[in-house]
Amino acid sequence: MQTYSLPSKVSALLFDMDGTLYTNPVYARNQTDLLVAKLASLHGQSFERTQAEIADFRAEFALTHAGKGTSLANVFLAFGVSIEESIRWREELLEPSGSLRPDPLLKQSLTHLSSTYKLALLTNNPMVVARKTLTALGIDLSVFSAVLGLDVCKVSKPHPAPFLKIVELLSVPCCECVSVGDRFDIDIAVPLSLGMGGVLVKGVEDVYSLEF
Ligand SMILES: [Mg+2]
Repeated sequence: MQTYSLPSKVSALLFDMDGTLYTNPVYARNQTDLLVAKLASLHGQSFERTQAEIADFRAEFALTHAGKGTSLANVFLAFGVSIEESIRWREELLEPSGSLRPDPLLKQSLTHLSSTYKLALLTNNPMVVARKTLTALGIDLSVFSAVLGLDVCKVSKPHPAPFLKIVELLSVPCCECVSVGDRFDIDIAVPLSLGMGGVLVKGVEDVYSLEF
């Protein structure tokens, strides 16, 4: 785990979901593959060709944005899929209960952290998928003071809007928030620019030992 600019006073922790509250690279890849397959079928071309075009787009994006990455929803926007359509596809295709199992250590960690800090969940998946994912992990939604999915702001991280919306919902200033996630460009860079701290995790194992 790598920490960035941790505030002297921490009041709220903003958690990413996928790759942060669970570590399951196979499920993560399956999520992406299902969405890419849907895009391929919409364009009437092979999965492999669509996958290659997305890889080319990401490489070009990195070249023109100082090496940065962007979200899959933003990539799909560039391929003509609106955010609303991305939301519908994710709601229709993603089924976390087939791959994720209850995680008592995560439950214990989040419960412990929630006794000191306000917790929030900020995901580029829609709320329906967030709820299904938490259920599969055995986590009660009520441990979070605020939950924000892609279908609320209609723009995906790393856009600043979801981060600003969640601090508004929490009624906590940015300078007392820490964003916790597994992708620097998506979960950490923008929060740092807004005055928050950041914790880049390798997976849920780092969340088990989170302390401030
Ligand atoms: Mg993630």
